[in-house]
Amino acid sequence: GGRSNPGGFLIEQRRLEKQPAELRVRAFTEITLKPTADSGTVQASRCTDCGVPFCQNACPLQNNIPDWLALSADGDLREAWRVASATSTMPEICGRICPQDRLCEGACTLQQSGWDGVTIGSVEAWIADAAFDNGWVEPIRPLAERGQSVAVVGSGPAGLAAADRLRSEGYAVVVYDRHDRAGGLLTYGIPGFKLEKRIVQRRIDRLVEGGVEFVLNTNVGVDVTMDELRSRHDAVLLAMGVYQARTLAVPGRGPNDTVAALDFLIAQNRVDCGDAADASAPHAAGRDVVVVGGGDTAMDCVRTAIRQGAASVVCLYRRDRENMPGSAREVQNAEEEGVRFEWLGAPKALMSKGEAVVAVRAQRMALTEASAGGRRDIAPVPGSDFDLPADLVIEALGFEPEAFAEQLDAGLGLTRWNTLQVARGGFATTLPGVFAAGDAVRGASLVVWAVRDGQDAAAEIDRYLRARTEEAAA
Ligand code: FAD
Ligand code: SF4
Repeated sequence: GGRSNPGGFLIEQRRLEKQPAELRVRAFTEITLKPTADSGTVQASRCTDCGVPFCQNACPLQNNIPDWLALSADGDLREAWRVASATSTMPEICGRICPQDRLCEGACTLQQSGWDGVTIGSVEAWIADAAFDNGWVEPIRPLAERGQSVAVVGSGPAGLAAADRLRSEGYAVVVYDRHDRAGGLLTYGIPGFKLEKRIVQRRIDRLVEGGVEFVLNTNVGVDVTMDELRSRHDAVLLAMGVYQARTLAVPGRGPNDTVAALDFLIAQNRVDCGDAADASAPHAAGRDVVVVGGGDTAMDCVRTAIRQGAASVVCLYRRDRENMPGSAREVQNAEEEGVRFEWLGAPKALMSKGEAVVAVRAQRMALTEASAGGRRDIAPVPGSDFDLPADLVIEALGFEPEAFAEQLDAGLGLTRWNTLQVARGGFATTLPGVFAAGDAVRGASLVVWAVRDGQDAAAEIDRYLRARTEEAAA
């Protein structure tokens, strides 16, 4: 702070230019054109340094946004990087995929006062990409080895953020994951057109180079027990995400009639990671696709289906555009790319001919009047059935936690949503020395919250292990 830039709002907001839709739909690469040094500086200089950093408060990481915007506006990207990376272990990832309209950018004073807000996310990604390109990203070099080790179960953003901070503090860190690649949903959930695989990979590479050990293809609870982990390591962090997919409960739905969103996305993400295409994996080429659901996962499925060459792609969502959970930006991208939205449409049955699904029967919903102080609900419109032709039906209805206590340890306390129970205001589970972070605790959430949890859980584990060392010495 300290400087003043009252004229910032006079500069026109320019969002990153997007590739034309007809080019976008042929590739799984990111759709925005990268800022130039000039455009990045100009957009950063729109911050008026309003003095009340609502943006910072609205950022789950409390990123020091006004400071790194001012430094970028002055052309000091290296110092901007130092400030941006102090609070976040993944600025280049959050800058790309945070729903900024609901977080930092939505709270920007310019946005709030009727001007277009500062494009905070793209400036953040620009600073961080410059840091990688120019070699400013410091390798992890702990000052001293602490002689204690931490197991991290799950290599999604929560696990990776914790591994980064713990290794930097000098702990030996072993990350276990049941997948063959690290990254969790950054690698196998979120498609390359939102976040290219190389961006995730260079984060993982940096951890490997810094001495973090990854033990992949290892399902904790099956291939290795919790007891084994707890005896091998001085602390354990559970960051396993939530993976039990909700399914459609409608007549006519046989076990092979639908595809789970994540199975569909993983198959394409594997190809993007360089694997050969698997002929038995679900693919949309030439098919009439209906995706049921209205969240981020549904948006990623419809846009993946378009890119695979689907004959038609419809998103069926029971509420309206204003009440969908997915980001408005993604809906717009999907519409530009040729996805059709059936708002206020609820699936009612799957229609088959012989063995094959041929349509989704849906019914129109209407918003009801809100009860006093209540949220508007939806109700079916009588006699409003309609059929959507479909030979690929993808279920994107959200995720629940798996049976953590059964799989891992009966002593793990759960909440009534079956997420892992942690001590109030912290990360300790009901098992001594075992901590938990990310979606496994919050339920399906956001990358930036997983990063925040991972960083904070690492700090708590550090305090816990230091206290144990002191006790042992006393
Ligand atoms: P995850 O990323 O789920 O990682 C958990 C890891 O644990 C996985 O690698 C898994 O293999 C591993 N694991 C699980 N069980 C075991 C076990 N027993 N043994 C070993 N390993 C195990 N958020 C955004 O902010 N922006 C977006 O644009 C966005 N898009 C999304 C798109 C999709 C399709 C999905 C599904 C989610 C999206 N999200 C988005 C949400 C975001 O990805 C998650 O909130 C975030 O990844 C949670 O991080 P995590 O580290 O807690 O778990
Ligand atoms: Fe905005 Fe997300 Fe970056 Fe925070 S981490 S400044 S919310 S883009």
